[in-house]
Amino acid sequence: MNVSDSELMLGTLAAHGYVSVDHPDGADVIIVNTCAIRDHAEQRVIGRLGELRRNMKPGAVVGVTGCMAQRLGPQLLDKAKHVSLVIGPDGYRALPALIEGARRGERGIHTTFDLEEQYEDFQPRRFDRVKAWIPVQRGCDYKCTYCIVPTTRGPERSRKLADVVRETRDVVAGGMSEVVLLGQTVNSYHDGEHDFADLLRAIGGVDGLRRLRFTSPHPNDFTERVVDAMASVDAVCEHVHLPMQSGSSRILKRMLRRYTREGYLDCVARLRAAIPALSLTTDVIVGFPGETDEDFDETLSVVREVEFADAFTFKFSPRDGTPATRMPPELTVSDEIASERLARLVETVRGMSRARNLGLLGTRTEVLVEREAKRGDAMLMTRTRDFKTVLVPGTEAMLGEYLTVELTGTTGSTFTGQIVRERQPLPMAG
Ligand code: SF4
Repeated sequence: MNVSDSELMLGTLAAHGYVSVDHPDGADVIIVNTCAIRDHAEQRVIGRLGELRRNMKPGAVVGVTGCMAQRLGPQLLDKAKHVSLVIGPDGYRALPALIEGARRGERGIHTTFDLEEQYEDFQPRRFDRVKAWIPVQRGCDYKCTYCIVPTTRGPERSRKLADVVRETRDVVAGGMSEVVLLGQTVNSYHDGEHDFADLLRAIGGVDGLRRLRFTSPHPNDFTERVVDAMASVDAVCEHVHLPMQSGSSRILKRMLRRYTREGYLDCVARLRAAIPALSLTTDVIVGFPGETDEDFDETLSVVREVEFADAFTFKFSPRDGTPATRMPPELTVSDEIASERLARLVETVRGMSRARNLGLLGTRTEVLVEREAKRGDAMLMTRTRDFKTVLVPGTEAMLGEYLTVELTGTTGSTFTGQIVRERQPLPMAG
């Protein structure tokens, strides 16, 4: 979502005559777009702002945007004297005017929510040449007790289906063949008339679109209609990132995730029944207040049962203002225990993924070339429909092409592959 917001900001700045540069040192304007989901993310922003103060061109304007800007607002201006503007996720329209003000020496702040704001008239400047991130929903109406997002991004609101279809047609006409629909709980999308199933069918019907992904869904919003649409729209890829957070119903209740362990497993079963080749990844938090060894064992058992292809794993990070910070102190899980659980969880996920990936060596699959792997090593980073990363030899000229590859090696999480037949032509745009 932040990448997509940065693309919107770059778009509006380009429309106002700004030109982007490769490095902040020589820039007249430096915007740091931030995340507030974990304390670690915010600490990195603080470190980055310190670095910028030392290296930036004299007189440069520094702005902080995004969720940390929304959360801290005027405190950021107090703490960082070289920051002249602070803008939350609904205020990017004010960016050019606040930059102009900052160049005259004014310090500005825009952190009010605007429930109508969808930036429909912005032309995003996309970083990616192969796939397009398309926001379909802003904000979140869930109130998970550990999460700062409802505070920083406000209530849920969806873009109109016709606007999302128009943007998809535009990016496909521009040569991209994959889109990723974005929302905090993307499958609860509803524009007042159409639900997420309608959206998948409409986007999947855009000529030339070959791959359709979405992130991140909430398990409770996989209605029968949505699952049916996923199964019947050819472009929808066989991968779902399905945040779990914990495998213990007791902890899930304390997190206010609004499903139980059984409910989560039922969602997995319904998705797999409809899409047999489905690959699942997830998010897990360890060390949430009150998590016992038994609760953690339940998390490990779901991880083993579902056989996630991969997982983003985190230690609980208390965020000021969230209900989880007001839980009784005796429920706090020590950092030592949380670290030990995290290590066991990571080992479990990696071990399973390594075993499964070794079993896939020698098989053939379709990949899309997404980018160069590393400058100079003549390898390309490609992805399968079910979200595996495969490194294959090739050149930048092949970006955006579909190839058939044979999986020849694995590091455990990523693969290396050989191209086994002629490249397929690019899909026709339009
Ligand atoms: S669903 Fe929960 S975790 Fe996800 S953004 Fe909303 S409040 Fe945060």
